[in-house]
Order: sequence, then C-alpha cells, then structure tokens
Amino acid sequence: MIVYLNNSYLSSDDAFISPLDRGFLFADGVYESIRTYNKKLFRYNDHLERLKRSLREIEIDFEGCDSIEYIIYELIKKNKVKNEALVYLQITRGSTSTRTHCFPESKINPTVFISVKDYKPIKNEFYKGIKTILEEDLRWLRCDIKSTSLLPVVLANQKAAEAGAEEAVLVRNGLITEGTHTNFFAVKDETVFTAPASNFVLDGITKKVVLELCKQLKIKVREEHIRKDEMKNYNEFFITSTTKEITPVIQIDDWKIKGRTEGAITKKLQVAFNELTINN
Ligand code: PMP
Repeated sequence: MIVYLNNSYLSSDDAFISPLDRGFLFADGVYESIRTYNKKLFRYNDHLERLKRSLREIEIDFEGCDSIEYIIYELIKKNKVKNEALVYLQITRGSTSTRTHCFPESKINPTVFISVKDYKPIKNEFYKGIKTILEEDLRWLRCDIKSTSLLPVVLANQKAAEAGAEEAVLVRNGLITEGTHTNFFAVKDETVFTAPASNFVLDGITKKVVLELCKQLKIKVREEHIRKDEMKNYNEFFITSTTKEITPVIQIDDWKIKGRTEGAITKKLQVAFNELTINN
C-alpha cells in the first residue's frame, strides 16, 4: 500500500515515524475518516471543516489543509483503488528531541499521515441491523474533538466484540451520548431523537446529513438526550457513521428490538441517504 507521510508518497513498509512523535507518546493528534461514493469524496468540505476545528481546539498549527484533497486523490490513483476509497488521515503535533508534556517552545512540523484503502461495504449489514451493548462512557470531556486518544472506546468496543455485538453505546450519567465510533438515534412518536451537539459527542458528518434528510422529509427531530432507563419507550434505534451509514440497531444488551417494530423511519432515511450517495 502506498501511503502519504510528511510530504512523501511511500510504501507503508517504508513509512516510519519517530518514537518521540507526540502522537505516539501522548496521542497528541487528531484524525478524520472520509469515504468516496462514485469515486468522489463524500461531504469533503464538512470533514475538512471538522478537521480544521479539531486542530484549532488542540492548538496544532498546520498550514497544509488546502493540499489534503489533492493528496487523497493521488493516493487513490497510486493505489489503483478499484471500488470506493476509505481514507484515514491523522495529524499529530510532531516530534521533539525529548519527551516533555507541554507544547515545544520552538515551532515543529506536524506529522501528517494519510492512507486510503479499497472499500466495498457489505450493504447487507445496513439492512440486517446490528447488536449493541451499553457501556459506561469513560471518555474525556472533549468528545467534540476528533482526537486520536481512543483508549476508552477501544476497551468498550472490545467488550462489544466479546459479547458478539458490533457496537457499544455509551452512557454518561444515565444519558446516552453516542456509540464508540458512531452517533446514536432513537425514534418514538414519529420523532427522531439524538443527543444534542455538545462536548460529550462528536458532531458526526453522517448525523448532519441525517438531520438534513429529516428536514427534507418533514420528519420531526428533537436533539435531546435519550435516557438509559427510558430506552424501552422508543421503538426504533439506529447508528450513523461514514462507514456504517444508517444502520438499524436490532438489539441492545439482551433486549431484542426486531419484531417489535418495522423500523419505518429508519428505512425512510436509509432510502433517502442511498439516493443522496448514488448521486454523489
Ligand atoms: N462519534 C464518534 C465517537 C466517532 O468516532 C464517529 C466516527 N468518526 C462518529 C460519531 C460518526 O462520525 P461520522 O458520521 O463523521 O463518520
């Protein structure tokens, strides 16, 4: 695989970073995942804006944002991507000569890593739905930043995998925040509920698209927290993300939701989302 690392296109076997890179030492960096539909990046500007915001919030001064789109398309060409591309992009504060917690005094170059992989989603999953478990949200208080510091969600996701589930849905003080790598939605009374934008959730690009689609389809939305102890009052649940698109949730812990509902709103949104991506 050819990857981009600090101004060079290299084989991934030859791409190395310093052990003193602050991304390696402190998870001092941010990332984005972006994908293509019809070989064209989907909602690129939204991803770029979110990346710029994440960089700003952790005070990484990176001047190369305008070149990223070109680099991604170069990587797609160089890797001869046949289907669609899934892009992973990470920017860390860079490396210094010694390990010191605070920012380096003199200016250093951020480390920029971009990779693309050939991506063929198994659409079947989007319709079949997934199992989830509920886990305590152990993350920090700036989940609005797409930080590479992901240990709490790595652990929660591992618990999900061990329970035979695809996603862990996170609960903070009795309220659902989001999934480990997805936003979470519930439906009742023909109304879509999702956690409001705050420092407790990542502002997902797919979530943004879903909220736009709700507006177009005249589906009511309430950006309000879903309470863990009131979950059973809702009759549809779904998660969203760049790779999961809109995926129905058919089980939460031992509670099997399928069979109780036709998932009408979820389906409506999936159809509209598909149409949007077909025309990307
Ligand atoms: N929340 C979290 C914590 C995530 O990591 C992701 C995936 N980036 C999402 C939500 C979904 O975001 P998006 O729709 O932009 O992929």
